[in-house]
Amino acid sequence: KAKHLEGTIGDIKISVYEGDLTQVTVDVVVNAANKRLDHAGGVALAISRAGGRKIQKESYEYVDKHGTIPIGQVMHTGAGKMPCQYVIHTVGPKWNNHGDEETVKAQLYEALVNVLYYAANRLKATSIAIPAISAGIYGVPVDVCAGQLMLATLKFVQSPPENNTLRDIRFVNIDDQINRTFVRIFSDSL
Ligand code: ADP
Repeated sequence: KAKHLEGTIGDIKISVYEGDLTQVTVDVVVNAANKRLDHAGGVALAISRAGGRKIQKESYEYVDKHGTIPIGQVMHTGAGKMPCQYVIHTVGPKWNNHGDEETVKAQLYEALVNVLYYAANRLKATSIAIPAISAGIYGVPVDVCAGQLMLATLKFVQSPPENNTLRDIRFVNIDDQINRTFVRIFSDSL
């Protein structure tokens, strides 16, 4: 089975590959955060460690000032020592706390739609790297996650904002099996 997938829709390149999100040279890396922006596990811890103290510090300052982040919403911090410029933190839904699969799917879709428009409109980013939001500790099945992230990406590329800057959208996972599932699901549309 393929490990790498790449395609172009309109003038936006979309790719799926195995790798460490903290090492990717893009404008924006996305973090699968929790609502308190406690970067204590999973990809959040990896990002927080790679970037240095600044990311957790800025995150806590934000929560102190504005409160916790609702599911599906976003904020950003700097990226500290990582090669990217910014980290967009978004809070995905948990699989266990919801009996309702449709709600979880809608929330995951909303989270990535918000991430992509924020990256383009607010940060004027050209490139972004995205993890399997909610598919780790939050327990959303990987194929469900990949399906929703793909739908959100299609939504963005089919109706990009005016003067869109985003040209390069990457789905990067450190786990080989999760990456392969993403490649399989995204190959339906790319
Ligand atoms: P959530 O709490 O939203 O479920 P997790 O951080 O537990 O998020 O996991 C999200 C995904 O990120 C998982 O598929 C995990 O394999 C992946 N992941 C963890 N560390 C990295 C990393 N350094 N680079 C890319 N992906 C990573």
